[in-house]
Amino acid sequence: MTVEDPDQGRVALVTGGSRGIGAAIAQALAADGYRVAATSRSGTAPEGVLPVVCDVTDADSVDAAFTTVEKELGPVEVLVANAGITRDTLLARMSEEDFTSVLDTNLTGAYRVIRRAARAMTRARFGRIVVMSSVVGLLGSAGQVNYAASKAGLIGIARSVSRELGARGVTCNVVAPGFISTDMTAVLPDKVIADYRARIPARRLGEVDDVVNAVRFLTSDATSYITGAVIPVDGGLGMGH
Ligand code: NDP
Repeated sequence: MTVEDPDQGRVALVTGGSRGIGAAIAQALAADGYRVAATSRSGTAPEGVLPVVCDVTDADSVDAAFTTVEKELGPVEVLVANAGITRDTLLARMSEEDFTSVLDTNLTGAYRVIRRAARAMTRARFGRIVVMSSVVGLLGSAGQVNYAASKAGLIGIARSVSRELGARGVTCNVVAPGFISTDMTAVLPDKVIADYRARIPARRLGEVDDVVNAVRFLTSDATSYITGAVIPVDGGLGMGH
């Protein structure tokens, strides 16, 4: 399978594609006809998706993963920078390690994969980059100083990349999910979940497919004139920000 074959779909790479939102995005893009690789530390991927081991905190690992995908599928045309972690605790108890490890995965990790992907995208004069932020990056959240900083920083990255690469046919947009039912949110106490639900205008938690649909839109060939946008997928939770 090579990218030169015009009958083949575009090549997409989803980081953090082993489970949750990333796995669902990888699966949906594959169903839409993209040739998809999903990267993660565990290296598992949904059916029909190329699994690739990659730790986004390690630049060599990122480079090796892209090289593998280029060999197996062709140059990456669609990048979804989705890998993320939380290490929640109140500021007074948040160690420097709690802070820097979340920044290293969520923010610097996105920088590493975008930088590596940009080479081939600018050469091809086509690229779709979507970064997975959070409503928390806009609203802030008690106990998530590290996570909120990383997710707010992604907006700065995306808007700067949009300015740098816009003329080369590369778009870079942000999806900012609210509260989505996944492993990441399953660990939260019932009371926190109930409080959130009461504050969400849609009065429900989000489903993974709510996020998947926004990503499908932003990665399609049809959205060449949307870049630097922040698309909330939060049932209205972050309205006005
Ligand atoms: P999950 O915890 O279910 O999945 C996280 C994914 O990231 C896994 O595939 C994990 O794979 C991967 N990952 C974690 N660390 C690394 C690393 N260092 N290198 C490579 N991959 C890594 O999270 P969700 O699906 O819930 O979240 C996905 C994204 O959406 C995250 O960026 C999250 O911040 C964001 N988000 C989620 C919301 C929610 O309510 N669920 C709300 C707003 C934003 P592995 O462990 O194998 O490496």
